[in-house]
Amino acid sequence: MAEICSVCSKPLDKTNAVTCIGCGREIHFPSEESAEDSCGFIVTQWNVCGLAFVCKLCSNQQPFGNTKTSC
Ligand SMILES: [Zn+2]
Ligand SMILES: [Zn+2]
Repeated sequence: MAEICSVCSKPLDKTNAVTCIGCGREIHFPSEESAEDSCGFIVTQWNVCGLAFVCKLCSNQQPFGNTKTSC
């Protein structure tokens, strides 16, 4: 069964799918070069000091982009 990206509604390949920390849905892996076109953003999660991903829909509602910290 095919996963569908919740942002662009195109099929997701498991190799380029990531999970949004805001809504838990799977989206395409965001590319930093084309942030405008990507389905989400890479953020650094404060509590785990690791990379996390947030979809475009959630990033419009919550300031996930401001959670960057230096670990
Ligand atoms: Zn997508
Ligand atoms: Zn989301």
